[in-house]
Amino acid sequence: MSAAAQNITPSPDAQSFLNREHRLLIGGQWVTSASRESIDVFNPATEGHLAKVAAGGKDDIDRAVSAARKAFRGEWSKLTAYERTRLIWKLADELEANLALASELEVLDNGMPLMLAQYSIASFGCEFLRYYAGWATKITGDTIPVSPTGVRNGESLTYTRREPIGVVGAIIPWNAPLIMATLKLGPALAAGCTVVLKPAEQTPLTALFLGELIKRVGFPDGVINIVPGYGETAGAALAAHPDVDKIAFTGSTEVGKKIVAAAMGNLKRVTLELGGKSPMVVFPDADLSRVIPGVTRGAFFLQGQNCMAGTRLFVHQDIFDKVVAQVGDLAGKFRIGPGMSPDSDLGPLISAEQRDRVMGYVASGKQSGAELVCGGEVLPGRGFFVKPTLFSKTNMDMQIAREEIFGPVLCAQSFGDGELQAVADEANKGIYGLSGSVWTRDISVAHRMAAMIDAGQVSINCHAAVDPAIPFGGNKQSGWGREFGREGLDPYLKTKATTVVY
Ligand code: ADP
Repeated sequence: MSAAAQNITPSPDAQSFLNREHRLLIGGQWVTSASRESIDVFNPATEGHLAKVAAGGKDDIDRAVSAARKAFRGEWSKLTAYERTRLIWKLADELEANLALASELEVLDNGMPLMLAQYSIASFGCEFLRYYAGWATKITGDTIPVSPTGVRNGESLTYTRREPIGVVGAIIPWNAPLIMATLKLGPALAAGCTVVLKPAEQTPLTALFLGELIKRVGFPDGVINIVPGYGETAGAALAAHPDVDKIAFTGSTEVGKKIVAAAMGNLKRVTLELGGKSPMVVFPDADLSRVIPGVTRGAFFLQGQNCMAGTRLFVHQDIFDKVVAQVGDLAGKFRIGPGMSPDSDLGPLISAEQRDRVMGYVASGKQSGAELVCGGEVLPGRGFFVKPTLFSKTNMDMQIAREEIFGPVLCAQSFGDGELQAVADEANKGIYGLSGSVWTRDISVAHRMAAMIDAGQVSINCHAAVDPAIPFGGNKQSGWGREFGREGLDPYLKTKATTVVY
């Protein structure tokens, strides 16, 4: 189908939002950027211009950080944990009440299919906020029974307090923009921190829409500041800012390294959720009725623009040809089109740059001798659509199998009988360790293999199971620290030990 042929007009509510003047949210006010520069935002399905958004720079980041610091020292720190819970919960309710508009704006800006936007914002973004709303009242320290050196037993008391770390700079990518914003806000607000959020320059719209909801909900001014801007200017200024206590970053490994370097100035705390090249390992006894849809979606979900995407498919030699053929068939049946069309299973890539990058990898795959099973083409017409692409007979010497493509390209290779460790060693090659999946009916193989895969999370008989309560993050160059769950709160807290000697 020619995706770009469809021209879907935005709803009146979405159009009215797009027509607004889009400013920065600093200290509870919508303000113009100091430089008066702006970012043009485009619809990746049509290449049409959607909106102009104020582009924040260093001066704006300075203003936002001071507003966040003032809020941190002011009214926000006086609120009870119950009050923080209620505000975060109210934000989730407000987002849910505006789900239709939030989802439409997400689709227009990012390109993902509407069903996916609605489902993920409602069942993940809103629930994520609610999950962390609950944590605000459960942050506790310890009492330590032993006495400090030189003090007799029973003559002292030591306890710890878990205090909010302070001002958090949250830098997020374009692949799931609104959800990413909730992922950073939930734990930061639950812990009692204040935030400067910098959305990706490609997709600032839903963060700005969230800003409107944040104002409606009634957070004290300056608790959440939203400054769209380019990475090299606004992002870099936030990462380097001497009065920011922590950076929570999601994005590429390359930029993650820059964040670490920038953060050195004041040794701020950094958590990084970076790239991946996740293996999906299929054993010969696996239930193919689950494997085929599972690995195909695991690879092409969000057009493969997903750090957890299963981009390396390892299949036992006995079923390799069958699995590859069936995955290729299913991938070929995915309907590609604008996210606003109910017939689209996959949307466009985010930009012409990303499309060209992906097609560069496709060319490299062909050159290196990998066998193209399906896809490998762009759709003609407007919009940045690339067909889901499967390469067979790949190996880890090939660039397509080693590097994160961040697009719809799946690399398949076979393995034979023998030691599980040898399969794991192959799956663990490379610089990433974010996610992985094991497909088998044999529970000992499943758990042994899951233990051997060097990744922050491994799924068995599904790929990339996520939930607000399940810790998420990467090993090796896939990141630092864990988000989600109880562990996801820790980076936003610092422990103070207090000792009294009677
Ligand atoms: P992706 O590859 O998904 O585009 P990036 O790592 O390029 O991811 O971008 C993720 C986020 O990091 C975006 O908000 C982007 O603006 C920001 N960013 C890019 N470069 C820098 C930088 N040098 N310093 C801080 N933030 C940056």
